[in-house]
Amino acid sequence: MSDTDSYGFDTLQIHAGARPDPATGARQTPIYQSTAYVFRDAEHAAALFNLQEVGYIYSRLTNPTVAVLQERIATLEGGAGAVCCSSGHAAQIMALFPLMQPGCNVVASTRLYGGTVTQFSQTIKRFGWSAKFVDFDDLDAVKAAIDDDTRAVFGEAIANPGGYIMDVRAIADISDAAGIPLIIDNTSATPYLCRPIEHGATLVVHSTTKYLTGNGTVTGGCVVDSGTFDWAASGKFPSMSEPEPAYHGLKFAETFGPLAFTFHGIAIGLRDLGMTMNPQAAHYTLMGIETLSLRMDRHIENAEKIANWLEKDDRVDFVTYAGLKSSPYFDRVKDVCPRGAGALFTFAVKGGYDACVKLVDSLEIFSHVANLGDTRSLIIHSASTTHRQLTAEQQEAAGAAPNVVRVSIGIEDADDLIADLDQALSKATS
Ligand SMILES: *Cc1c(COP(=O)(O)O)cnc(C)c1O
Repeated sequence: MSDTDSYGFDTLQIHAGARPDPATGARQTPIYQSTAYVFRDAEHAAALFNLQEVGYIYSRLTNPTVAVLQERIATLEGGAGAVCCSSGHAAQIMALFPLMQPGCNVVASTRLYGGTVTQFSQTIKRFGWSAKFVDFDDLDAVKAAIDDDTRAVFGEAIANPGGYIMDVRAIADISDAAGIPLIIDNTSATPYLCRPIEHGATLVVHSTTKYLTGNGTVTGGCVVDSGTFDWAASGKFPSMSEPEPAYHGLKFAETFGPLAFTFHGIAIGLRDLGMTMNPQAAHYTLMGIETLSLRMDRHIENAEKIANWLEKDDRVDFVTYAGLKSSPYFDRVKDVCPRGAGALFTFAVKGGYDACVKLVDSLEIFSHVANLGDTRSLIIHSASTTHRQLTAEQQEAAGAAPNVVRVSIGIEDADDLIADLDQALSKATS
């Protein structure tokens, strides 16, 4: 497809990046299940390795099926380029890797996917990196947390587990003033609900495992670059702006302009970290992404019905869905994600921890799994599972207290989902 600017989202989610296969005319993107690609001649091989010509060398770096998905996601997000990788967590490391050095830190929201809290608070310490967790609703605290060693600011547009809405523009203004890139995890929102780059984000990361694939089949991740950050301005990002010894002294920012981060992600990130997406996974995600907008509209319609029903129920203490008028985030929905507040939220069950566990065990349609963004409705008791490794204070700050369960509302019949919740709540609170 040419001129992607003039097409609407529903057209782009099906066509962006894809073209009939030049060899066979295949209309659907083939799964290029090949590890390596034959060079035309020695000169062609040298040009590819010098990054003077774009093409395929080896599937740890690039693969034609994965490349279609990269272009599709970059287009939907309004970015300059994208790199897919093996999981959402891989995408987070791939996004931080070009920015960070030992001694550097990332300023992150307290409201994050549980696994991200663990990755940032524990595992990245092994690289000599650290994270400072701040309440992103407290803008002064975010400003105060950024110091000379901060290399990124990180938050989720629609945040786990409560479906809280981040004021992306306000945080982008702060990171801009500090000359630091803002990374938005857009997994729960998807580009259909929120396009963080339009709100000032530098990089967008995804767990494509979730809504983009949409059917719970494969893990994957993606890093999208806006292409607008000035890597040379502050001198803080030498791997982007100075001669990079890991690629025979190449200056990525100068050589590749708006595609610098994308080329760095492939030429150094995937080459040396090896967190590559396989073509089968890209295929499943390409299949899923074709119906993203249709699914998201239905996810939201169901989530609104169910959140309203739960809020009126005596057995429920509160519901965090930002699409409810009672939510402190309700006013942000029209600015940040005008098509709706997503389909992820928590609710508190009267009876606390024990009632939550009983509720989860009593549901019949909802599946008890550590996943979100499936066509199926899912539920998890975060405090005993995904947020188990967190301290009580971290659980509370993250919105995963022992008396709440998190739901990811699917696209089944809303009446069936409500009936299922009704019977399970009766068992849980009797
Ligand atoms: C699932 C998820 C991740 C991690 O993604 P994986 O594909 O499981 O590695 C990161 N952020 C959010 C918001 C997620 O939902």
